[in-house]
Amino acid sequence: MRARTVARSREAGSQLPAEVWESFEAISLASTAALALWMAGGRPEEGRNTSRKAFETYGQLAAQRIAPLNEVSKRSLRWRDSVGEVLAESATDLGVSTGALQRALAMVQRTVDVTLVRMCECFESERRKTDDELAFMATHDTLTGLPNRTLILDRAEQALARARRHKTPVAALFIDVDNFKSINDTLGHDAGDELLRHLTARLDGVLRATDALGRLGGDEFVVVAEDISLQAGPELIAERLLQAFNQPVKLSASPATQLSITASIGIALGVRSSAEDLLRDADIAMYQAKREGKDRFVLFETDMQDAVRDRMSLEIDLQEALRNQEFFLVYQPTVDLRDMRPTGVEALLRWNHPRRGVVLPDDFIPLLEETGLVVKVGEWVLDQACRQAAEWREAGHHIAIAVNVSARQLDTDEFVMQVKGALDRHRFDPRALTLEITETTLMRNTDATARRLATIKGLGVRIAIDDFGTGYSSLAHLQRFPVDALKIDRSFISRLSENPEGETLIHTLLQLGKALSIETLAEGIEQEHELSMLRSEQCDSGQGFLFARPLDADAVEMFLQSWDGQAVGRENRAR
Ligand code: C2E
Ligand code: CA
Ligand code: CA
Repeated sequence: MRARTVARSREAGSQLPAEVWESFEAISLASTAALALWMAGGRPEEGRNTSRKAFETYGQLAAQRIAPLNEVSKRSLRWRDSVGEVLAESATDLGVSTGALQRALAMVQRTVDVTLVRMCECFESERRKTDDELAFMATHDTLTGLPNRTLILDRAEQALARARRHKTPVAALFIDVDNFKSINDTLGHDAGDELLRHLTARLDGVLRATDALGRLGGDEFVVVAEDISLQAGPELIAERLLQAFNQPVKLSASPATQLSITASIGIALGVRSSAEDLLRDADIAMYQAKREGKDRFVLFETDMQDAVRDRMSLEIDLQEALRNQEFFLVYQPTVDLRDMRPTGVEALLRWNHPRRGVVLPDDFIPLLEETGLVVKVGEWVLDQACRQAAEWREAGHHIAIAVNVSARQLDTDEFVMQVKGALDRHRFDPRALTLEITETTLMRNTDATARRLATIKGLGVRIAIDDFGTGYSSLAHLQRFPVDALKIDRSFISRLSENPEGETLIHTLLQLGKALSIETLAEGIEQEHELSMLRSEQCDSGQGFLFARPLDADAVEMFLQSWDGQAVGRENRAR
């Protein structure tokens, strides 16, 4: 009887997963066994237990969509049929009365009826449970259990509606963990996840019950606050959140280290036409908080939006600028402060924008850096500068050229190849090329940067530290890099006129250069008294509007030709 009922249940069915087959077989066997026991005079409860197990299992299989409901029903009916056949055969073999056989068959039918009805009930309740779970998953973040973007937007929409109706305040706070990527990269994704769960608990702890906290993904959280919670202003909430971040964190991946975490928060206060607008403004303000140095909050203002739109349109135009040949170089001379002769020029990038006219580097170099375009544009600058300087040198002017280099360019070995390529193409003497690298660029990624600079230095190229004095490099750091020149930042020179300490500072910086046998160059010299002070302090060279503004190539040539006579005059005046 067992073999037959199992065989039946296997007959011509749809393709079902192996574990479903196992359940079917197990139930089929158990039901047959229970029936045999009952016919042999066993207790009815055992049969009932077996049948409950049958409909629950079937119900779950169907509700979890592992097996279709009709497939499970068919199994039960087939089981009934095969049991019926077996009973009828055994009845003839054993000479059981027709009445007894009828009763047994009716019993089987009842079992199946009950199983089917219960199974449907089970199916319904299971399905409701699954639907609830699916609904939760669709609106919540699995890592932290917080409302996700969809739900928090919905909450914000409701808050906006209430604020419009009752004229009460509403705000969104957009929170972004600072440097989360580097935490993830150094400690691994599990540690990153642990940190996010940790932070979630903390944020939750400092919020009021009426504030809605959600996770937008990655390391971005949002708080929607309204009415009473905002009575003391959204700044207070932001401060509490920042404080919550600032407590050190210990992660199981590295229990010995205490991580100090900070975040940047953007606040959008007041009614907007949609929840999306509210969050977007908070996001823009958050971005501003990052730019202002992180670990702070910034309140959204309308002109931020204009600035963002402006940047976006510039960014789009920048993508085309190289191809459209909109970049060009100007050159600002540098002079030897001992004999006042020109020593070289610094190449400075300009962008001739089709509508805006000439754009200065401070307005587009940061964008080039953020988008990574600076790598390609930087390659162009190097090539163009070497080409032009080679031409001047061929014409008999013994001048050097300096090229500014961004941090991003130094991030790959490709840069070394670019320098070599430009030198080779224009057969340019490497000793006449100086790369200007800011102090802050040197201080990041120090190992790889030191290695790349050493390779470049090996080619014979000179290295200068730009904006020197504004970063935090120590003597120990300086000695790690093959530095040829310190370019003392313009701000020190312009401060000279304002306060007497300025002179002491410059003195110190110049002495530092002397002690390390590194050439010193002062930039931004605008006044005669600045020049005479620098000369008496024995600064090696200088650059600034006093000598020349950045010039186009033709003007540089004229400058170089006419310099000799001028230099003498200036030298006399300077003394
Ligand atoms: P920087 O390297 O410090 O360049 C000197 C800047 O100071 C230039 O501004 C120059 O015009 C200005 N300057 C020179 N002498 C004086 C002076 O006497 N008084 C005043 N007030 N300013 C003076 P510019 O050309 O606008 O360049 C700004 C910055 O843009 C540069 O600062 C440099 O960091 C960056 N930059 C320029 N060209 C390139 C480039 O090709 N690549 C990269 N990566 N950065 C560049
Ligand atoms: Ca420079
Ligand atoms: Ca500079």
